[in-house]
Amino acid sequence: MKNTDPAQTTLLRLPAVLLNRLLGPPLEFPAIKDAMNSSSEQQPDTSGESARGPEAKVPGPAEGGSAAASDETRGVADSAAVARAAAAGGRYRVGFDLGGTKMLSVLYDDQWNEITRRRKRTKSGDAKAGVKRILSIIEDLLKQAEAKPEQVETIGLGCPGPVDLANGVVHEAVNLSWQDVKLKRALESEFPARAEVLNDVDAGVFGEYRFGAAMGARTAVGVFPGTGIGGGCVYDGQVLCGKGISCMEVGHIQVQIDGPRCGCGAYGCLETVASRLAISAEAAKSVYRGEAPALRELAGTDLSDIRSGVIAKAVAAGDVAIEEIVRRAAQQLGRALAGIVHLLAPDVLVLGGGLVEAMPKLWVEEVERTCRKAVMQSYRDVFKVRVAKLGDDSAVLGAAAWAHQANNQKARK
Ligand SMILES: [Zn+2]
Repeated sequence: MKNTDPAQTTLLRLPAVLLNRLLGPPLEFPAIKDAMNSSSEQQPDTSGESARGPEAKVPGPAEGGSAAASDETRGVADSAAVARAAAAGGRYRVGFDLGGTKMLSVLYDDQWNEITRRRKRTKSGDAKAGVKRILSIIEDLLKQAEAKPEQVETIGLGCPGPVDLANGVVHEAVNLSWQDVKLKRALESEFPARAEVLNDVDAGVFGEYRFGAAMGARTAVGVFPGTGIGGGCVYDGQVLCGKGISCMEVGHIQVQIDGPRCGCGAYGCLETVASRLAISAEAAKSVYRGEAPALRELAGTDLSDIRSGVIAKAVAAGDVAIEEIVRRAAQQLGRALAGIVHLLAPDVLVLGGGLVEAMPKLWVEEVERTCRKAVMQSYRDVFKVRVAKLGDDSAVLGAAAWAHQANNQKARK
């Protein structure tokens, strides 16, 4: 796993102001905003990474317009959503994706058709205020569809960071400074529904397993390079986890001894060399050195402007240095995934996130090639590498589906 490539070992030190722009309050993106029909309180994902918007393939998509009405009439019934809810027959499932920067909640009928959705910015603050906000978003969601709390069968919530799946406790919510928050208990005491809480990447992989790129897999491993690198595994229909804690922290596999410092405090973790943030930092250096004229034109050296779409454009426009940076990151990922193939023999490896979705061919090609080369002969043909299909909706849909499955399994016992 050791990598001695000097270009990869000197990650730019990010000035706090840049990091804040990258990770902090959202910027305005009119096109995305229109697509999401956001109100002033609802802003797009700051990462701008996964704004797949209307083309996202979601099973049984709601016809357009539900979000629009919801924004202008906060907490008031949205006629289109009400009509869909009436047609659905009255049993609902709630999915919730609690992100560090945005919250997305979706109401589904019992066939996984979308009734309505709400998307809001995540506010900083203590856990108590955060939980209150989650509960009020779900209440608003129900009001939009004129649904009663008793009509909700299940609530599934995906949350960044380590989670105790069995007890629905968020050990530590990344970017939210939450500690040991009993979210399942809070949801179940507010709503007469079964609630399940899981890690957001696990939720995303479960979503892909149920409805997307990993349907029918025996063992699906998902890896999503973003600000960090999230990972998850669905094994035989269950989210793989430890006792009292989620697992598959793929981003923190050490791939370089004495490599760049990671957000977790260790050095040389995979996400310090292959995350979108690491790639953007290398790309900024490349622009600074005058090696990437297209990217200089598109974004300059400001890290917060070097986003997935821009990187893809620069590569398409012929910035060879940038292409090489992305390919090397994908190769690092492929080599790290070889370790996972040896451990779990997944039949499907799903790659997702904005950067992968902006350059799917390049990522699949490099990851597949390096991973195959690095595994033992017998494992070479056991896995397929696929690109995630659900975009922004994978975690919200996966969380909802996970809660529904848990409820069914309980009912059968
Ligand atoms: Zn780490």
